Amino acid sequence: MSAPFDETAVPSSAALFERGRRVTPGGVNSPVRAFRGVGGTPRFMASGKGAWLTDVDGNRYVDLICSWGPMILGHAHPDVLSAVTDAAGRGFSFGTPSENEVALVEEIVARVEPVEQARLVSSGTEATMSALRLARGYTGRSVVVKFAGCYHGHVDALLAQAGSGVATFALPDSAGVPASAAGETVVVPYNDLAAVEAVFAERGSEIAAVITEASPGNMGVVPPAPGFTEGLRRVTAEHGALLITDEVMTGFRCSRAGWYGLETGESGAHPGGYAGGAPDLFTFGKVMGGGFPAAAFGGRAEIMGYLAPDGPVYQAGTLSGNPVATAAGLATLRGCTDEVYAHLDSAAHTIAAAASEALAAEGVAHTVQWAGSMFSIFFREGAVANYDDARDQDTAAFGRFFHAMLDGGVHLPPSAFESWFLSDAHDDEAIDAVLAALPAAAKAAASS
Ligand SMILES: *Cc1c(COP(=O)(O)O)cnc(C)c1O
Repeated sequence: MSAPFDETAVPSSAALFERGRRVTPGGVNSPVRAFRGVGGTPRFMASGKGAWLTDVDGNRYVDLICSWGPMILGHAHPDVLSAVTDAAGRGFSFGTPSENEVALVEEIVARVEPVEQARLVSSGTEATMSALRLARGYTGRSVVVKFAGCYHGHVDALLAQAGSGVATFALPDSAGVPASAAGETVVVPYNDLAAVEAVFAERGSEIAAVITEASPGNMGVVPPAPGFTEGLRRVTAEHGALLITDEVMTGFRCSRAGWYGLETGESGAHPGGYAGGAPDLFTFGKVMGGGFPAAAFGGRAEIMGYLAPDGPVYQAGTLSGNPVATAAGLATLRGCTDEVYAHLDSAAHTIAAAASEALAAEGVAHTVQWAGSMFSIFFREGAVANYDDARDQDTAAFGRFFHAMLDGGVHLPPSAFESWFLSDAHDDEAIDAVLAALPAAAKAAASS
């Protein structure tokens, strides 16, 4: 894609991108970073502090990606930094158990009540892959039901209609996924309980699990309709299948207890979703690693007991529970106080309201959707309930908006199918910088 944008200010990023493309496919190590959805040159970052990123050309940006969620306290937070340097000073990896692994799982168990036990892994992909294997081992069944537009990492069986990364590149599915893996996966539209019931009516006795994002954020933010989560619990229980809730993105970000906390907690923001019972398995990642590779899956002890060494389902990892990563995760979760969540909510509402106002002033069709402090702006009229709705938006208008924001010193996620992420370090100075960039970006979005 040619870049209709002024990029004379980023010669060092352009040079690194050129070098990168010679030795790495697309020049990046995760596809969305290549800017294919918006065109132009990705900014190579040199450093981050608080709410701000500085690229290799010395340009500063307010960061609204926050590493796709993990940097909830801001970049290089002093408490996390000292926990990491202390841990690293005592050694990098032992291949034996260590105390922080216990402490990090204790912190997770204390926050998310239905999780009695969890196992640590190194990525969200590993967490969902392992949870699926466990669900299949526990039930003795093989079929998995997932929702179009939900992303659960790049697990073979879950790469069908998998949301943002794939949507950005307009690939229906990934090549290289064997028919045998895809054939065990049934994909149904999100927020369509009748479709789930129809699948169970036909194949109920073969279905090991339904896996869903607790509140989808990978097709943009599309919360469950009232009664949907409760319906999933009822239908899976009726047929002896497990319900796996993927909180890799929402966990410890939407609230202290993630999306689960919003559905059940005192905030009452989305009450009643788990009135029929909690999900059987949870997956976590992103925030709980504090910017380092740490993730987890967990649930009732009776199910977790199927894992090796106690049970027959094998699962392992050389770097699982790594002492530096667990130190970062623990310091991050301990820093996620009620005040932090209150600040995220208010900062997100200020920015979303200003963005909506700026777009409305230019007559740009848009819809804002929420999950706690996570929000998306869809460039379309009307609510988004599923993946088809999400794809029915003006991605070219988003691209113009994105680049004008970037020129104005604000780094949004480079895709129309993503949540915007804030941190506790997004103070008045950072928020004002975002607000200042919005009018010109709305004008750019309006100018086709
Ligand atoms: C990011 C994400 C994953 C994958 O996590 P990785 O650490 O990138 O492997 C899985 N599920 C959801 C909901 C995610 O947002």
